[in-house]
Amino acid sequence: MSGRSQQTVLVTGASRGIGAAVILRLAADGCRLALSYRTDADAAQRIAASARDAGAEVALFQADIADPSQALTLPEQACAHFGSLDAVVANAGVTVDGPFVALTPAQVATVLRTNLSGTIRMVCAALPYLRRSRAAAIVLVSSLGGIAGKDGQVPYTASKGGVIGLCQWLGDRLGPEGIRVNAVAPGFIATDMTTQLDPEQMAPIIQASALRRVGSAEEVAHAVSFLLRPGYIQSTTLRIDGGFAR
Ligand code: NAD
Repeated sequence: MSGRSQQTVLVTGASRGIGAAVILRLAADGCRLALSYRTDADAAQRIAASARDAGAEVALFQADIADPSQALTLPEQACAHFGSLDAVVANAGVTVDGPFVALTPAQVATVLRTNLSGTIRMVCAALPYLRRSRAAAIVLVSSLGGIAGKDGQVPYTASKGGVIGLCQWLGDRLGPEGIRVNAVAPGFIATDMTTQLDPEQMAPIIQASALRRVGSAEEVAHAVSFLLRPGYIQSTTLRIDGGFAR
């Protein structure tokens, strides 16, 4: 238990992968959890059940972050349920990979609408509630791709670079109000988003990491938990990449 029990945290994209690991980690920390998912209600229920087994109060909210009205109303729904909202973890994200010229405008738009516009809308909609909290925090999930770029992921890296800029701007703007804003930039983490890579594609990725391995969702969740705690870190994007060579 962290000593910050009953902090109410909204986590998007939380039915699997990094978001699910964040939910389980924050449940162990003693937080109350607004678990947001897009489509997989069964998976969301399973993660919620595990978090409840760990003693957490959990409520589920279905929302498509790429849909402007759903991104805007999600924080309000979470606050209406719990009576307060202290923190948000903007984790929901997608990638559509391929040479940029081969991607359709709709594919590019999906990535930008989800990772960037949806994140901005959801976080801005949470601000009125966070301003009422004495332990307000925002953690944005960016990516190493947003720092280093990545072949075949132009919309993704552009969107995640935008998230880093958003972190800097929000951090500067909200710091004087006592709202802490930081981001994480995971490198290669073993989740459903990355399991389609074959061993040949994996080898150079592992070789480029100083720790010579991929990361786990739990290791990202650990960093998110740390950044949600009160502290002197602001407007920072924390790389969780095993010491990637770029
Ligand atoms: P994942 O595909 O397992 O999880 C992504 C989650 O986001 C899913 O639950 C999905 O349903 C949700 N989501 C996607 N579009 C959504 C939408 N429009 N509305 C609501 N939810 C939506 O992948 P993950 O690896 O767990 O990714 C989580 C976050 O971490 C993403 O933002 C991703 O970009 C980022 N990230 C992942 C890696 C990695 O190597 N896995 C590296 C860097 C950053």
